[in-house]
This record gives sequence, C-alpha cells and structure tokens, in this order.
Amino acid sequence: MKTIRWALIGASHIARQYMVEAIREQDNGEVVAVVSADNVRGRQFADELDIPESYDSVDQMLKHSAIDAVYISTTNELHYGQTLKAAAAGKHVLCEKPLTLTLLQATEMAAACKLARVVFGTNHHLRNAATHRKLRALIHEGAIGKPLFARVFNANYLPQVLQGWRLDRPEAGGGVILDLTVHDADTLRFILNAEPVATVAMSTMGTMTSGSLEDGVMGVLEFDNGVLAQFHDAFTTKFAETGLEFHGTNGSLYARNIMSQEPVGEIVLRTASGDVSVPVEHEKLYARSVKMFHLAINGNGLPAASGEDGIRSLATALAVQESCKTGRRSIVRN
Ligand code: NDP
Repeated sequence: MKTIRWALIGASHIARQYMVEAIREQDNGEVVAVVSADNVRGRQFADELDIPESYDSVDQMLKHSAIDAVYISTTNELHYGQTLKAAAAGKHVLCEKPLTLTLLQATEMAAACKLARVVFGTNHHLRNAATHRKLRALIHEGAIGKPLFARVFNANYLPQVLQGWRLDRPEAGGGVILDLTVHDADTLRFILNAEPVATVAMSTMGTMTSGSLEDGVMGVLEFDNGVLAQFHDAFTTKFAETGLEFHGTNGSLYARNIMSQEPVGEIVLRTASGDVSVPVEHEKLYARSVKMFHLAINGNGLPAASGEDGIRSLATALAVQESCKTGRRSIVRN
C-alpha cells in the first residue's frame, strides 16, 4: 500500500497521547506536519514528537506540505472551516467528534468531502474496540433474543490537564454532552444497529463547569427498533466504573470497564444456562481507526465511523442538549 502522509491540524492532547502513535503503527503511515495557532508551541510539539514540519496556519500547511490526509483535533468550533479547506485541497479528512456544533455545518462538511472525492471519517474510537464489535456481533446473532433495553455508564473524572475549554467555553463546544454523550450515541447506534429517534434528559452544572455548560447528564434515548437506552455521562465522578448493558427477551449482556481509550474491558453473557464470560482478543482502538481509514483511502470500504456516523451522533447530542434546556422530550433531527 502507498504511504499515507498525514498532517495534524491541532497540537492537541489526543494527537500527542494516541494518534501520532496510531499513525506510525501502520505499515504505511507517516506524520509529516503539525498545525498550531501558536507557532512556538507548535514547533515544540513537532520537536518533541519528531514531526518534520510545523505551521501556524492550515492555509500555509496546505500550500507547502505534500500530504494525503489531515487529522483534525482542534477545539470543536474550528473543525468545520478546517475540514472545508482540507477537502478543497483534495486531502482526506479524519475529524474528531463532535464534527462541529450544528447539523447544518456537519452536513456541509460531509458534502464538501463528497464533492472533492476524499474520504471523510469521524474519530469515534469506541466502535474500534474488540469488545464493542463483539457486543454488536452477539446481538446480531441473537444471543440475547430481541433487544429491549440498554444502559451506558460513561461517567468519569476529567483529568486536570483537560480541565480547560471543555468547562468554560460553550462557543468551542464545551460541556459533557458534546464530549461524551456523542460517544454514547455512536456506541449504541453501532452495537444495536439502530437509530435514536427521541430523548429526554437532565443535566448538572457548576460542580466543575462554569456558566451554562453541563458537567453531568442522565437521560434516555428511544431507538427506532423500540429499544430504550439509559445514559450517564459526567466529568465529575472520580470513582465511577464505565459499562454497557443490553437486556433482551432471552438474555442480558454485561460489559464493564468498556468505555475506554485503552484496549480493555470484560463481557459476560447471562441466559437461562447461566453466566458465560465472553472471550475477546483486544486490539488498540486508535490504531484500528487509522487502519480502517487507510483502507478506505485505498478504496477498501468505509472508515470505521463515517462522516454520516458523525452527523448522527451530533444530531443525538444536540437533541439531548435541547431536552436538558427545555425539560421536554426532544426529537433527534435527520
Ligand atoms: P486539547 O485542549 O488538548 O487541544 C485542543 C486545542 O487546544 C489544540 O488544537 C491546541 O490549539 C490547544 N491546546 C492544546 N494544548 C494546549 C496548551 N497546553 N496550551 C494552550 N493551548 C493548547 O484538546 P483534546 O486533545 O482533549 O481534544 C481535541 C479534540 O479531540 C476535540 O474535538 C475533542 O472532542 C476530541 N477528542 C476526541 C477523543 C476521542 O477519543 N475520539 C478523545 C479526546 C478528545 P493549537 O492546535 O492551535 O495549538
């Protein structure tokens, strides 16, 4: 396979912690450039991670750097303009979640990539987890009969180093709903192979956030196959465990330590025959995300999560936000 040369748009923690390594772990992945609005920090990031080129604007990078793809991990309000520029320059785009802050912009981003005939993916890492793929397969095979209910436990504690724009910048897409509920939405859509249609939710604010941003949320999503799913997301819980449960007519699936960036987690299937621990061959989530994206660039299938998947998870998160504000049931828009 031809080498895929990447530029990072955003000198972010997620790029530093996971994505540079995920690209370099591929047989054909190279990190060529980084773009940061802060020239000095960008250069330092490039030096520390051994990235040859550093730019202080997307335009300069697109003009001077010979790349095939961009990975966008700036704050959320910047993804839209950066995607349009990269697509117009003929570069494939792997964008972080949430794709942007409005459905209209997200749809425009997908349309621009389609017009430019470049691959557009959303970095919903969780559907790359072997555990999540196993849950999807088990439900599809009928292991629990007809699925009736689901639960997502995705409350955690936002690490000190990330306690910035997520807590006090609504204009950057801060708040726990755009940060974590989007992942729940994608996870449930992926595992249930169904679409959320409506939601009721309530949020908390002020424990960690300031102003109008949520730092915790609980709610219910209704899916088009009749499943009701509870979700719980938070920045504020130091000792909460993550998990997923699916309850059907013939069995239940219990998964723990599973809403993670690491290849970890356990699954138990409970039926009339008793409890069975389900074996899983773990695989690094972000490396698989990049692997699938490279395959898509080479004409083999779609990215693990497509642009359309990013639009659907954003639509769900926006409906949850709306329900929290109005105190009413909200429809997930198409
Ligand atoms: P960061 O706060 O690390 O990075 C966001 C932007 O903030 C960067 O682009 C950078 O701007 C600036 N920045 C970063 N570090 C500093 C610093 N020390 N001082 C000043 N500015 C800084 O955010 P995250 O990495 O947590 O998130 C980035 C994106 O990735 C978001 O869209 C988020 O939702 C998503 N994300 C996705 C995850 C996943 O698993 N899919 C996990 C975590 C985040 P500049 O580039 O101009 O220097």
